[in-house]
Amino acid sequence: AAWEKQVRHSATPRRPNGFSVLVTGAAGFVGVHCSLALKKRGDGVLGLDNFNSYYDPSLKRARQKLLGKHQIFVVEGDINDAELLNKLFDIVPFSHILHLAAQAGVRYAMQNPLSYVNSNVAGFVNLLEVAKSADPQPAIVWASSSSVYGLNTEVPFSEGHRTDQPASLYAATKKAGEEIAHTYNHIYGLSLTGLRFFTVYGPWGRPDMAYFFFTKDILQHKPINVYVTPDGKEVARDFTYIDDIVKGCVGALDTAEKSTGSGGKKRAPAQLRVYNLGNTAPVTVNKLVGILESLLNVKAKKHVIKMPRNGDVPYTHANVSLAYRDFGYKPTTDLATGLRKFAKWYTSYYGIESRVKKEIQSDD
Ligand code: NAD
Repeated sequence: AAWEKQVRHSATPRRPNGFSVLVTGAAGFVGVHCSLALKKRGDGVLGLDNFNSYYDPSLKRARQKLLGKHQIFVVEGDINDAELLNKLFDIVPFSHILHLAAQAGVRYAMQNPLSYVNSNVAGFVNLLEVAKSADPQPAIVWASSSSVYGLNTEVPFSEGHRTDQPASLYAATKKAGEEIAHTYNHIYGLSLTGLRFFTVYGPWGRPDMAYFFFTKDILQHKPINVYVTPDGKEVARDFTYIDDIVKGCVGALDTAEKSTGSGGKKRAPAQLRVYNLGNTAPVTVNKLVGILESLLNVKAKKHVIKMPRNGDVPYTHANVSLAYRDFGYKPTTDLATGLRKFAKWYTSYYGIESRVKKEIQSDD
């Protein structure tokens, strides 16, 4: 009963016509930022996360603690647990689901392929099954990925480009998610919006991502691997700052149509939408390292090596005109500005008291 009260309290909106949002993956990088932003404007937010150990769980616990300070409760559980999900929907008539829980990362799929299928395919289906039977049906916004473009070489990537050449199992499961969403929209009238995020970075970020472990290794004067393509070309990413991604997620939630079914009964289908959320300005990994070197005031020891076939793609670049047209999405943070904010968070979170930190802190 105390648990139920916490769930209800966390999910209750504090503004007129506010949303009640179930945020899956709330203790994750994107989840923590979106949850805080929604709560701040008066929406009710309930988190769900299984706190798996794909990367340092203590970072997930620290994010949970931050959410707790803002009266956001995170239920510890798995999106594959239908009983738990049904219980949550019995307590709260969620208006929206922001579905961010997933097995992320492209390289880990070579070690643990089934974790991708379990979370990104089976878990997603489980969530959709619960959502389609809920009354009212929640509108769903979920995280897809730029990785669905795979080996597509037509740039910048637009939503209509081919997505039939996934380069990793991660990409394949994200693509499968889009196909599955289409089916649930078609049959049950569920309102579904997929967001293809492009390499998101920022404070509270993911330790498995290059900008994060480069920062760690550069500060420790350890060598870093910088990949080039097999034919020697530089690798580039459309690095997108977390605050821009949050604005995109909130915009997608605000413009989502209501689901048109209820209790599993179908009415006219709501629209299925898919959008790129990127920065529209790819930067090479060399340039990224250069920015970090000057921010941290340490020269990196670079090992330039050819990219193995590990699921990485050589280049990403988003066209975001569709998201701009439909909810005014416009990225505003360049990589140097965003990395400065990341480095400031990193040094303070890990208690790195040094000249480096003072320099980052001093000029803002
Ligand atoms: P993250 O790993 O930090 O967050 C995901 C969270 O989901 C984690 O806290 C994890 O514990 C939780 N989770 C995983 N499987 C679960 C399950 N079965 N049940 C309950 N919880 C589970 O990753 P992120 O960077 O915040 O990514 C959020 C979403 O955006 C993911 O769907 C990811 O695939 C997608 N995405 C991220 C990026 C990026 O650059 N960060 C790029 C493209 C797409």
